[in-house]
Amino acid sequence: MTARILDGNALSAQVRGELAEQAAALTQRGVQPCLAVILVGDNPASAVYVRNKVAACEKAGIRSLKFDYPQDAEPAEVLAKIAELNADAGVHGILVQLPLPPRFDEKAVLEAIAVGKDVDGFHAENVGRLSQGQPAFFPCTPHGVMKILEYGDIPVTGADAVVIGRSNIVGKPMAMLLTQAGATVTVCHSRTRDLASHTRRADILVVAIGRALEVTADMIKPGATVIDVGMNRFPAGHPKEGKLCGDVEFEGASQVAGAITPVPGGVGPMTITMLLANTVESARRAADAGGR
Ligand code: NAP
Repeated sequence: MTARILDGNALSAQVRGELAEQAAALTQRGVQPCLAVILVGDNPASAVYVRNKVAACEKAGIRSLKFDYPQDAEPAEVLAKIAELNADAGVHGILVQLPLPPRFDEKAVLEAIAVGKDVDGFHAENVGRLSQGQPAFFPCTPHGVMKILEYGDIPVTGADAVVIGRSNIVGKPMAMLLTQAGATVTVCHSRTRDLASHTRRADILVVAIGRALEVTADMIKPGATVIDVGMNRFPAGHPKEGKLCGDVEFEGASQVAGAITPVPGGVGPMTITMLLANTVESARRAADAGGR
């Protein structure tokens, strides 16, 4: 079998086009969606992520504000900026790029963001709302995965879903979203015994480990949908050494799976798209409430 490719770039282009139209309509109403991004320190990968987010905003007609702080910035200074942005009615989303330098209390910084502007969906109140099935800003990566499943017409209700990874930003919210959509969900992690015995039962397998080529064809049920969240580089000695790859060994897996996301071009583009979606949604709420 050769798996159907779930093309995150194509879906992303479609959704971003719709979001650009919504942003233009809101701007006409006097509320241009605006995302504020805070970057602390000199992590090169973070700088690239922030650049991509800002560029995606501009392309969709979303205003972006960027605040850079040096590696040795005082946490109080960053918290003061968050308070200022919380109070600014013209700002609809606030994102603090993670990871923060070690002297920062990451949790305290995330909790300082107003719940209604927490477009990354990492605030404890948004996480709690998600777990209770209440409307909330959902974390962008798992939310993007749900959109990919919807776009690919993958039945979720009643499906056996296995999520590998239990991080707060991917694995846990992914499991909650799948549960709410009616899947029967198993969460695996580094302490799971006999990982393959779980993955081989999965109709939907979401892999968020962070280790190159960890999931191989023999771990996949024939016809399953495989969603590869991982972003890694092919290891030394591999013919594609240094190039981007996922957590799934794509060549083999795509011979067994029924549908699969590639890396790059799968989950990655949808993560930024859902950030834009949350920002537009926040601006819509402001406009409906008569704000700006
Ligand atoms: P993380 O916080 O490091 O979590 C990794 C998870 O994988 C942990 O729960 C860990 O278990 C589990 N794990 C590690 N080794 C394992 C093994 N051998 N077998 C089974 N489980 C294992 O990573 P993350 O932030 O969730 O990110 C995961 C991957 O997704 C990374 O490659 C990251 O770059 C990528 N990512 C991509 C996007 C995107 O937009 N495409 C967004 C976010 C993240 P324990 O909890 O027991 O340690």
